[in-house]
Amino acid sequence: MRVLILGGTADANRLVAEIAGNSRIDAVLSYAGRTENPTPPPISWRVGGFGGVDGLVDYLRAENIARVIDATHPFAARMSANAVAACALADVPLLALERAPWQRASRDLWLEVDSIVAAAEALGAAPRRVFLGIGRQYLDVFAAHPQHHYLVRLVDRPRASLPLREADVIVARGPFALAGDRAMLMEHRIDIVVARNAGGDASYAKIEAARALGLPVVMVRRPFIPAREKVADVAAVLRWLGHDLTPTERGV
Ligand code: NAP
Repeated sequence: MRVLILGGTADANRLVAEIAGNSRIDAVLSYAGRTENPTPPPISWRVGGFGGVDGLVDYLRAENIARVIDATHPFAARMSANAVAACALADVPLLALERAPWQRASRDLWLEVDSIVAAAEALGAAPRRVFLGIGRQYLDVFAAHPQHHYLVRLVDRPRASLPLREADVIVARGPFALAGDRAMLMEHRIDIVVARNAGGDASYAKIEAARALGLPVVMVRRPFIPAREKVADVAAVLRWLGHDLTPTERGV
């Protein structure tokens, strides 16, 4: 069975690791190409956009894809919407592997907002020391709020200078741990954290660290994604993939 996995997340990598040895599943992992050195997966892989909904429909047909797993980041809303539309057009079953969002704990000081723009505005007029653990592509939004000092954590070292007037940069790839993130927030005298509600363990440490230090978090809610079938763990994806296999194919 030819399966396309839309990846770029730790969840996708976990799924790929489970599928790699399965001779009945011929899967290809797709990366957008945002990180410079993606970890080479143990299955075949491709890099780059498909060219919108039409491009993805063409790809599904040309590659004879029988199932699509959307294991992209919860904020990769365009890719996920395209997958819903393209799979409907090409009549290919789609399943999303979507981790649950983080829930506010009793000692959390969250201000929830609907967009990065709203998050930047929520920082207010007075200068703050802000931790941004949100990805390079959104930094321009904060450039419009130059009164703050920013600490930016990025996966790749930036090639050009950041659009921010006052910023320190940390280059690091998750998963992150509570002790390290707590020490980082203290060392840089951070007084507010901006985060997107990604869910999962890999980047939760900053939320726990903010809680431990009594710091407020401006939490961006997840974007809208059209309705689709979804599960929260890799085991459920494997069950979905095995569901239609004949007993012989399942090795029974
Ligand atoms: P996006 O805004 O939803 O995607 C923009 C465009 O990038 C899509 O329309 C598609 O181009 C292409 N694309 C995205 N994911 C792709 C994939 N897995 N394979 C092939 N093309 C893909 O997504 P994004 O926020 O830029 O995220 C890009 C990738 O980074 C995603 O795969 C996501 O899992 C990963 N990632 C994102 C975040 C985040 O915070 N957004 C965090 C960690 C990892 P075409 O329309 O040309 O097909």
